Amino acid sequence: MELNGKVAVITGGASGIGYKIAERFVEAGGRVAIADIDEGKAEQAAKALGDQAMAVEMDVTDERSVEDGVDKVAEKWGSIDILLSNAGVQIVHRLEDFPFEEWKKLTSIHLDGAFLTTKACIKHMYKQNSGVLLYMGSVHSKEASPLKSAYVAAKHGILGLARVMAVEGAKYGVRTNVICPGFVETPLVTKQIPEQAKNLGISEQEVRDDIMLGGTVDKEFTQTSDIAELALFLAAHPTNAFTGQSIVASHGWYMN
Ligand code: NAD
Repeated sequence: MELNGKVAVITGGASGIGYKIAERFVEAGGRVAIADIDEGKAEQAAKALGDQAMAVEMDVTDERSVEDGVDKVAEKWGSIDILLSNAGVQIVHRLEDFPFEEWKKLTSIHLDGAFLTTKACIKHMYKQNSGVLLYMGSVHSKEASPLKSAYVAAKHGILGLARVMAVEGAKYGVRTNVICPGFVETPLVTKQIPEQAKNLGISEQEVRDDIMLGGTVDKEFTQTSDIAELALFLAAHPTNAFTGQSIVASHGWYMN
C-alpha cells in the first residue's frame, strides 16, 4: 500500500493513534499535516517525521481555525487528498452527574470537529474529483457503555455523518470509511482507567482485566500500529469499492 505523495490532514495527530497513523502514512510515501490544538506537540511530532510532515495549530471546534489550517496545508502542498478526523477526548460520568459544559466540550470536539474538518477538506476534494474521508469512530459507535453517554452519543453520530458523506461524496470520487478501535493503549485510555475504576467502585486491575478478557485473540490491548495498518489500507487501496463502511479493530473484544 503506497500513498505516492498523497496529502493527509490528521486531526489530533500529535499523540496516540493519530501520530502513529501519521508515521505510517509518511513511511508509505504520503505527506501529513499534524493538525492539533497542542501546537508544541504538533511541532515536535512533525519534526520527528521529517520533511514530509508539517504542523498546523488547529482547534477542530473553531470554524476559522479549521478553515485556515486546511487552506495552509493546501497552499503548501497543492491538494488535500485524505482527511483523518481523529481528534478526541474522553470524559466519563454517570449521566445524572454529567456537567452540561463537559457534555458540550466532548460532543463538540468529536462531532463539530468531524463536521468542520469535513466541510473544509471536501472543498478541495470535490474540485479534484477524488479524496478519502476517514473518521475515528470506536466500538462505542456501535454499542453502549456505562459512564460514557457523551462519548457513545458522539461516536454514534460520527457513524451517521460518515454514512451521509459516503453518499454525498460518491459523485465526486470521495470515499468514506470509519475506523472503530476497541481499547488502544494511549494517553486517552490510560487516563480513563483510574476514573472508570473509581466510578464503578472496582480496582484499576479489574478494569484492565475486563478490557483484556474481552479480547478473544491474544488478551492484549490493540496497539496504535494495528490501527495504523487499517488506516493505510483504507486510505491507499486503489478502488472506491469500500465506502460507507465501519470497521472494528479490537482483537475480538467487540464483534459486529
Ligand atoms: P490521545 O489523547 O492520545 O490523542 C488525542 C489528540 O487530540 C491529542 O493530541 C489532543 O491534543 C488532540 N485534541 C484534543 N482536542 C482537540 C481539539 N479541539 N482540536 C484539535 N486537536 C485536539 O487519544 P487517542 O487515544 O489517540 O484518540 C484518538 C482518537 O481515537 C479519538 O477520537 C478517540 O476517541 C479514538 N479512539 C481511541 C481509542 C483508544 O482506546 N485509545 C479507542 C477508540 C477510539
